[in-house]
Amino acid sequence: MQGDGGHPTHFVIVFSDVSERIRYQDQLRTQAYEDALTHLPNRLGLKARLGDLVNRAADQETRLALVFLDIDNFKEINDSLGHAGGDAVLCEVARRLSASVSLADLVVRYAGDEFVAVLHRGDVDSLVAAAGAMKDALNAGFCVGDTLVVPQASVGIAVYPDHSTDAETLLGYADATMYQAKAIGPNSLQLFDPEIASRSNRRTLMAQALRRAVAGDEFTVVYQPRVNPVTGRTTGFEALVRWYDPERGQVSPASFIPLAEESGLIVRIGERVLEEACRQTAVWAQAYSDLVVSVNVSPVQFERSDLSAVIANTMKNAGVSPRNLELEITEGVMMAPNSLGTLRALRQMGVSIAIDDFGSGYSSLSYIRNFMADRVKLDMSFVRGIGRSRADEVIVKAVLALGRTLGMRVVAEGVETPEQRGFLVDNGCDEVQGFWFARPVEAVIAQSYLAADDLPLPELMTSSEEHGVSSADAVQRH
Ligand code: C2E
Ligand code: MG
Ligand code: MG
Repeated sequence: MQGDGGHPTHFVIVFSDVSERIRYQDQLRTQAYEDALTHLPNRLGLKARLGDLVNRAADQETRLALVFLDIDNFKEINDSLGHAGGDAVLCEVARRLSASVSLADLVVRYAGDEFVAVLHRGDVDSLVAAAGAMKDALNAGFCVGDTLVVPQASVGIAVYPDHSTDAETLLGYADATMYQAKAIGPNSLQLFDPEIASRSNRRTLMAQALRRAVAGDEFTVVYQPRVNPVTGRTTGFEALVRWYDPERGQVSPASFIPLAEESGLIVRIGERVLEEACRQTAVWAQAYSDLVVSVNVSPVQFERSDLSAVIANTMKNAGVSPRNLELEITEGVMMAPNSLGTLRALRQMGVSIAIDDFGSGYSSLSYIRNFMADRVKLDMSFVRGIGRSRADEVIVKAVLALGRTLGMRVVAEGVETPEQRGFLVDNGCDEVQGFWFARPVEAVIAQSYLAADDLPLPELMTSSEEHGVSSADAVQRH
């Protein structure tokens, strides 16, 4: 305020206590970086400190491990104890993990039932031992209410600077390694392995290429004859998918089908193979009305698509009769509770069903009792044992007898030698498939097998064999 002469006579001073506001801001920051349940730092808390921790390890020239822990079967624990019980387990796990490391180490609740620890030690062995001690600390039982809980965890470890010098990369490696540990079984611990990482990197790249191939419709279908082993006459074909990738060349279905199943791409690929096989079968069936072409169907197609509707539609569009189509399923499909209805619906339509790779999976005769297939395809691992393993020969004979008794035709897969063929003929095998008779070939060549009365049998092949040409090549030129 100013007086008469314009000089200040009073000052007004405003006091405001900002400590409350600072405390509040601190609290917000703490809340953002801290997990409210366990009071451990959370994911943001880890991100905020990880760079510094790695830099410090670099300055001090020590090693640092990122340890990723995931509680095994936590969902079951949560379901059986309820959320409050699940929370109690998480708090106990947090307490034990913190107590099992030294003061300089950091334990973080990363998400849900995932914890991350950052450990400092001089060498890799000590880091693995320290991570092992964390895991072991969890394994003692304790009671939640009147339920005894024994926590277990899967643990993945990545080490600075051995595996990477970048904090984010190390975290990713530790995470991926934890998944490998989980795949081994509960309570497992794994150290990052660069070889496995490059393999999983190759898989990721292949999955991308596969996605592009699906979009670009880069798949083709080849046909391998099913043959009467006595007469050599072609009775049908198995349709097999082929993928030619510009970078990788011809990729074996054995390596890309599992990947396609994991990613769900098999649904589209399977539909594509089915369309092509049905289109081709409709053409062949005009001249060969008894022909049966089989198409492999993945268990994933049963789970993720309305398979009977897809098949009915595809057959209708192609104008193929159901009696000319067969679906090859693996034993696993018969075990899935929901697929039995689909199988019966397909059978109702008149499509026949073959059990593929019989004997190689979780075979159980009770599944056969529940659902009687039209054909059983004896896995080639048993056929390979003919002439070499008494046990394999006994199994081959038993499956042939089983098929005969239950009225299922038996196809022997992977027949490669005249001895195998002879043994199968002697024991009354209905049909064979294998390189001895013919390899999978393009439709135009396959058609020539239909036109021929028979495929050349071993007796006819001796001269080309002597010249070092395989029977399959001889057949292809036939
Ligand atoms: P699979 O259904 O058991 O098919 C038979 C496989 O054995 C084919 O391999 C065939 O080329 C091979 N093979 C036939 N005869 C012989 C022989 O005498 N010796 C040897 N060593 N092998 C023989 P391919 O075409 O590489 O297919 C491998 C597997 O990939 C198939 O086994 C099947 O499980 C899967 N697959 C192929 N095409 C498809 C498809 O369109 N859909 C699905 N879901 N799976 C498919
Ligand atoms: Mg098959
Ligand atoms: Mg098979």
